[in-house]
Amino acid sequence: MKKLLIITALVGFTAVGFESCSEGASSSEQTVESYACPMKCEGDKTHSEKGNCSVCGMELTAVE
Ligand SMILES: [Zn+2]
Repeated sequence: MKKLLIITALVGFTAVGFESCSEGASSSEQTVESYACPMKCEGDKTHSEKGNCSVCGMELTAVE
């Protein structure tokens, strides 16, 4: 069940990833202070540094 959720998220996340692949160039204009798992494995919990989700291993995404 969890695998299906991850696959579903990966498909959606890939689509979003193409849109935001200019991450390095444009994100410097934004103030991003927290990161969270795109799968929301830990609910609304956020991390102050970039990294990977401790639950599913996906890269944490910036939360505005
Ligand atoms: Zn996760």
